[in-house]
Amino acid sequence: MAAPYDLNDSSVFVIVGSGAGGGTLGTQLALKGIDTVILEAGKRHETWDFINDEWDSFSQLAWTDKRMTSGSWDISRTFPNLPAWIVKSVGGSTVHWAGASLRFQEHEFKTRTHYGEIAGANLLDWPIDLKELEPWYAQAEDRMGVTRTNGIPGLPGNNNFKVLEAGAKKIGYKEVHTGRMAINSEPRDDRGSCMQLGFCFQGCKSGAKWSTLVAEIPKGEATGKLEVRPECQVLRIEHDAQGKVTGVVYADANGVEQRQKARAVAVAGNSIESPRLLLNSHSNQFKDGLANSSGQVGRNYMRHTTGSVYGIFDKPVHMYRGTTMAGIVRDEARHDTSRGFAGGYEFETLSLGLPFMAAFLDPQKWGRDFSSAMDQYQNMAGLWIVGEDMPREENRITLADEKDAFGMPVASVHFEDHENDTAMRNHAYKQGSAIYEAVGAVRTIHTPPYPSTHNLGTNRMSEKASDGVVNRFGQTHDIPNLFVSDGSQFTTGAAENPTLTIVALALRQADHIAGRMARGEL
Ligand SMILES: Cc1cc2nc3c(=O)[nH]c(=O)nc-3n(C[C@H](O)[C@H](O)[C@H](O)COP(=O)(O)OP(=O)(O)OC[C@H]3O[C@@H](n4cnc5c(N)ncnc54)[C@H](O)[C@@H]3O)c2cc1C
Ligand code: SF4
Repeated sequence: MAAPYDLNDSSVFVIVGSGAGGGTLGTQLALKGIDTVILEAGKRHETWDFINDEWDSFSQLAWTDKRMTSGSWDISRTFPNLPAWIVKSVGGSTVHWAGASLRFQEHEFKTRTHYGEIAGANLLDWPIDLKELEPWYAQAEDRMGVTRTNGIPGLPGNNNFKVLEAGAKKIGYKEVHTGRMAINSEPRDDRGSCMQLGFCFQGCKSGAKWSTLVAEIPKGEATGKLEVRPECQVLRIEHDAQGKVTGVVYADANGVEQRQKARAVAVAGNSIESPRLLLNSHSNQFKDGLANSSGQVGRNYMRHTTGSVYGIFDKPVHMYRGTTMAGIVRDEARHDTSRGFAGGYEFETLSLGLPFMAAFLDPQKWGRDFSSAMDQYQNMAGLWIVGEDMPREENRITLADEKDAFGMPVASVHFEDHENDTAMRNHAYKQGSAIYEAVGAVRTIHTPPYPSTHNLGTNRMSEKASDGVVNRFGQTHDIPNLFVSDGSQFTTGAAENPTLTIVALALRQADHIAGRMARGEL
């Protein structure tokens, strides 16, 4: 059989979402000869219709359907209906992403062992370790063309990096470079090299940046074994009397409900939508939602401990020119409780354009502090803090009473910082300021976390079924032909940007699924 597939074809593998997890899994299954359908809620855009303007691009690509928030985090006050910055478009958030691609450190797979019991945190060891994931990391890096791996040179440093590098080295940091980036520093994989345009978050019109949209899905489609259906939002997953998944119900581009039969289903809608879908798929047999016998679906929502530091100088920096995030300081990524917290964090260069800076520098505030900083925009350098946050059972996704356009309850996101998160952020703010002050900053500004770009952990991986939602291969503990393939599998979040790990897990999962199919087990 070849794509397009019939709605009644129950031999197809159905994937919900086409981002880092879903787009990679779908492509890899197709390359292995497995008939695959990806249902994607968003439209299909291509490099030529991306818009190099921050808010217009956001409107084009981001998930702007209503979500609710609660909890003590700033976001519930500043952006109450936009807890997360996630893409709704073919390619998922890899269309918006910046490309920073780091492996986890060994201890980060075993935080319960290394950090011990931390009150108020629901720490758990991953059922896999670094050694097991290493070959898959290597495959993912090769596939994504990550700089500083596979002999690929690093990207050149822009002005924002040069300021970060000089300040960081001056205060004694050693691991400072232009990062491991899934952005071509030289032509590779039929895509050109980075042109330093600076619109990485807006999709990258040149195609130098890896995304499932430009680098994976076309290869899957070329096999004739992958069909991507845009503007198809999955509303429910269905099952038979034995509790095995049989297909999905989705709203198509005209809002009409369709039912796609399936041999197996993988959920990869990112860490807010994936638990939303599992919870909304409740039935008489599974009253609390699918794969939720442990009660852990939607729990342990993580978003990384983030925040930004901007330094203002007496001369222009023009931080917005060049690759947005090609610059890193890794010295604080270690686990070292002498700093007053468990886990570690990274500093990465970050620049927002003027429109985003106005919205995010000091959300919803106005006055001399804010306007005098904006006046100095061209003299600013900026960095982003990415650190490990503590999983907490109470930080969770639930279904709200309010419904979306298709009658699906909207997601409600509850989040409170753990005191470890706050201690880490304060340490990072202080060190970030020190970096810029060391090279003559006349002022530094600490910006609170933006709507979450790293959404993790709401269907966590666990050895025991009672502790989580999926096993070491992302297969749900409760239902043998239902999988989770996105960042919601993360047991804990680590200090590193998550996408390389999501892609490595998806490649490994594809191998596992193909093996089980070949043995007639799926
Ligand atoms: C501005 C920005 C910068 C970032 N920079 C980096 C970086 O430098 N490094 C890094 O590692 N990470 C980065 N990230 C994060 C990274 O993009 C995500 O972690 C990653 O893409 C998540 O992969 P995923 O598979 O979990 O979900 P996504 O890639 O978000 O894909 C989910 C897809 O599922 C679709 N979907 C959801 N629900 C449904 C449904 N019910 N039916 C059908 N489709 C559905 C969505 O529309 C979406 O397309 C960044 C993110 C943003 C927004
Ligand atoms: S700086 Fe490089 S990766 Fe970013 S948008 Fe431009 S070409 Fe793409």
